[in-house]
Amino acid sequence: VVIRLAGKASAWQVELACPQCGAPVVLAETDRILSCGYCKVRLGISYSDHFRYFLEPDGVDANSKEIIYVPYWRFKGIAYSCRGNTVEHRFVDSSLLAVKAAFAPNSLGFRPQALKLRLASHATPGKFLKPALPLKKLISRVIEYTNNPDGSEDPLPVYHHAFVGETTSLIYSPFYIENGSAYDAVLNKLPALAPSSHFDDSLAFDECPAWQIKFNPMMCPHCGWDLMGEADAQVLLCRNCSSGWESSNDGLKRINTTAIQSKEPDALYLPFWRIRAQIVGLQLNTYADLARLCNLPRAIKKEWNERDLYFWLPAFKTPPQLILRLTRLISVYQPSDGELSENLPNASLFPATLPKSQAALGLKAAIASMGVPKRTIFPRLPEISIKVNEYILVYIPFDTSGGELINHTMQIGISKATLQFGRLI
Ligand SMILES: [Zn+2]
Ligand SMILES: [Zn+2]
Repeated sequence: VVIRLAGKASAWQVELACPQCGAPVVLAETDRILSCGYCKVRLGISYSDHFRYFLEPDGVDANSKEIIYVPYWRFKGIAYSCRGNTVEHRFVDSSLLAVKAAFAPNSLGFRPQALKLRLASHATPGKFLKPALPLKKLISRVIEYTNNPDGSEDPLPVYHHAFVGETTSLIYSPFYIENGSAYDAVLNKLPALAPSSHFDDSLAFDECPAWQIKFNPMMCPHCGWDLMGEADAQVLLCRNCSSGWESSNDGLKRINTTAIQSKEPDALYLPFWRIRAQIVGLQLNTYADLARLCNLPRAIKKEWNERDLYFWLPAFKTPPQLILRLTRLISVYQPSDGELSENLPNASLFPATLPKSQAALGLKAAIASMGVPKRTIFPRLPEISIKVNEYILVYIPFDTSGGELINHTMQIGISKATLQFGRLI
């Protein structure tokens, strides 16, 4: 059984039609599996790049008025900044205007929580403005602003920023033009919070966007069994042939999935991405390098110089303090290849809800947080680049003991409440 620890109270909702029977289906924005209540089909959803949603015009005659959709970046996740000599982290949940358009409010505010989002495709009628402000730039601004709300000079040097998104999407809000002014097509009036109502004709539109939504059947491409996975799972599992799969626009792609076996029948298995990376600008290729970076209180063994180094990052959403702690503890423990089994255990497997590419975006902050002393490591961060060469998913067993999950071999304890909290964010 795959367990679900908590619901998702805060997620925005997306409404779409079941691709098989046409019945309406409502998903949370983080859901990647559609389950139709009418025809019972289950499908994995993927999108060509970012998920793109739109809000529907309301009370506007679409035949007489052309709808113009204005893009907003929607981002929710953890922002890291290596500032002064600490790794700071904060949870951000925002939507910011992705074009320079004075007629549009700077943020969507709470609007999408009151309205349902719909998936945008090349078939959605209307014209779509092209996003002109990169997400990275907006996130840097958000971080700078939270560090220094009054806009004064930051007294502490900032060496590295990163954003690990559990949601990164574009949301398009509808407008229409009348007498040169842009009207909000949801409220059917001039937007209240915009600096100007004038529509700027020089704005660029996305010509023939090739946005594709793809629905993949939840059937193991290897053996034909039904794949397991909760609505927000990023990796689908086959319990028959012990394989893992990721939904993509080219169908299901295999993820190398393994487990460390436990003799404890009630163990709960948590998923981790084991990442092999090439790091330029810092000597960090072998286990001996990691021991030196962390200044481990043990003598460095000669064979450690030959031992490949892997980084172990949680593959589930969880608060940043726990991500950094688990990454350090498991990377320092460094499970060996011999401990990994290709068979998935017949036990509770916690869903992998954080995609590998997002997990890897936090790697530099995790290395910075492991490294000592900070005053020599931090100034080098801007020069360090990381290229990931290999990802595998590894399930690690934890025994349940009261409110704690414990891995005795690695001496790691996690409170169940923290894990539940991660499911809700
Ligand atoms: Zn259906
Ligand atoms: Zn299979």
